[in-house]
Amino acid sequence: MTKEDARQRIAALSEELERHNYNYYILAKPTISDYEFDMKLEELARLEHEFPEFLSPSSPTQRVGGGITKEFQSVKHRYPMLSLSNSYSKEDIEDFIDRIKKGVDGEVEFCCELKFDGLSISLQYEDGILVRAVTRGDGAQGDDVTTNIKTIRTVPLKLHGDFPPFFEMRGEVVMPFESFDKLNEQRIEAGDDLFANPRNAAAGTLKLQDSKEVARRHLDNYCYYMMMDDLEQRYQTHYESLQAAKKWGFNISNYMCLCKSVEEIFDFINYWDQARHQLPFAIDGIVLKVNSYEQQQALGSTAKSPKWAIAYKFKAEEVETELQSVDFQVGRHGTITPVANLSPVLLAGTTVKRATLNNEDFIRQFDLHYGDTVTVVKGGEIIPKIIGVNFDKRQQGALPVEFTRVCPSCGTELIQNEGEAAWYCPNTQGCPPQVKGRIEHFISRKAMNIESLGEGKIELLYDEGLIKDVADLYALTYDKLFGLAKEIPILDENGIETGKTRKVSFKEKTAQNIIDALEKSKTVPFERVLFALGIRNVGEVVAKTIVAEYHDIDAIMQASVEDLSAINTVGGVIAQSVKAFFENPINQDIVKRLRAAGLQFAKVEAVESDKPQLLAGKTFVVSGVFTNYSRDGIKAAIESYGGKNASSISSKTDYVLAGDKMGPEKRKKAEALGVPIISEEDFQKMIGSAEKNNDSKEEAEQQLSLF
Ligand SMILES: [Zn+2]
Repeated sequence: MTKEDARQRIAALSEELERHNYNYYILAKPTISDYEFDMKLEELARLEHEFPEFLSPSSPTQRVGGGITKEFQSVKHRYPMLSLSNSYSKEDIEDFIDRIKKGVDGEVEFCCELKFDGLSISLQYEDGILVRAVTRGDGAQGDDVTTNIKTIRTVPLKLHGDFPPFFEMRGEVVMPFESFDKLNEQRIEAGDDLFANPRNAAAGTLKLQDSKEVARRHLDNYCYYMMMDDLEQRYQTHYESLQAAKKWGFNISNYMCLCKSVEEIFDFINYWDQARHQLPFAIDGIVLKVNSYEQQQALGSTAKSPKWAIAYKFKAEEVETELQSVDFQVGRHGTITPVANLSPVLLAGTTVKRATLNNEDFIRQFDLHYGDTVTVVKGGEIIPKIIGVNFDKRQQGALPVEFTRVCPSCGTELIQNEGEAAWYCPNTQGCPPQVKGRIEHFISRKAMNIESLGEGKIELLYDEGLIKDVADLYALTYDKLFGLAKEIPILDENGIETGKTRKVSFKEKTAQNIIDALEKSKTVPFERVLFALGIRNVGEVVAKTIVAEYHDIDAIMQASVEDLSAINTVGGVIAQSVKAFFENPINQDIVKRLRAAGLQFAKVEAVESDKPQLLAGKTFVVSGVFTNYSRDGIKAAIESYGGKNASSISSKTDYVLAGDKMGPEKRKKAEALGVPIISEEDFQKMIGSAEKNNDSKEEAEQQLSLF
């Protein structure tokens, strides 16, 4: 293929694919099969790879993602991104309309639109090409997320028709319920925290560094406002501009209505308050905009929001249903959580069958009885909540809900810690959900990241008697795993068995992958191993903090509650959990076996220093802000010259290295103990260098590049 042939073919394929994309995603009228589309896209990608000089930033291949954004550049908005004032009642809307009518001449027409529950985005086009996509940020400036936005199929990369040479479209990035459910399902399996709602998920997704992952999550976009200089010379009304934009390739909602009276507006509002439950994405209200640009200009804006538009917010969704029964679930720490089984009811786009009841106090507070009619809400949370009981509907002879006194799984009598509402099953070693829960936590992505053991495999290995604790994992061999198989029940989104099962089995590849993954996990850094052990109250961040202070497991195991709680941000409660965990001989044994298996139980120290060990044997406490070093940078400098860092001042401290804004408590303590307080300058003299620390230099440069 000659260069010219390639150029022509790339241009033709790009145009064709973009047209199919428009037919499929905007018009919902595909004219070729998915397979054909993929074949053409593949051909285009191949040609672009071979002839990179013809790769255009608006090529349809950009939608697959692949670009990595290390840091999102902050960009000033050309037109500030205002927010809308909110209203919640018919009176608010009537007041708004009165105000508008007083403010302008002639008849007023309102454009009523859906209020998408996502995040606003500004899309900038030059000569019909998407050049930049920026988040709202603080309204004056936001983050450049162009690479990620390009993966959204409903955002046109290249326009067609008689578009203006330069303009901006404002729109909303949303995550459809289908994508949201799928994403959370994957996160459950990966052991990640779930996104509370589609809006949070969309926000998190737009800020991902890897645009390939963004592409996989299937975001959607709707545009609802055009911005450009002299807009009103091109179009008279907002509605007209959106209809034009639709022709150029933008995804404009079909659910838009021009209304003149309060009655018409409320017909629209009331209709969508119900019908929104059938939409494939979340909306949280309706937006009213004055349609005429001339009238919009006459009304103007405040610093925060335009005076010609208002949002009407729907009430949080709630629904009545029947409380059928209560289950008690056992967490990995033994905590018992009551869960209500409800008559299935449609709420906020999903069928709800369960709601959490938190603890015994919660059940008492509502005086819950079996068969009660309860009000359930689903706001931002994934797990629906009961917020009230309709006592008028209580059936005669209904029995009160009693909190169980024995473990629903192992039958052990429950215990309660003083001052806590929660009940625990104390049978930590013999209670199956606790044991399995701990192992599942251990293998989760943020802990040891042994993903090949997910999806029901722990359950199987436990049932087969192959693992009773996390250390047993490292005794698994290919021969023990190969050939194991079991049918396990499939759960629905409410965690209820669906009656269907799927087969979990260990074939050659699965078994080998697990052995490999276990081997690989031996390089997981100590702080994640500590987190993986599943000590109560020790999350990722706390584990990191403890390891920063105590570099190996022996030091942590020997530390007293006082030592541990002296670490900044580690309080007494955490310190006690850590102490209790390591005092337990069973846990000591697990640590011993994991150690023997070769896991990391010490922080990997920085590379051997080539600096003179001028500070050998000296212990420093660093406090405050420094000019030439970041805090971590100055600590690293101390260590590279042979010194040690400690977090709290004691009689063993040799120097307190004080920067700006040193805490008064620390100063007092140092003075009381007679520990010398030295400045950054003193320190630099000590190490005989006034050189700037490299780290802080780099940081400063990075910050500069933001502007
Ligand atoms: Zn139990």
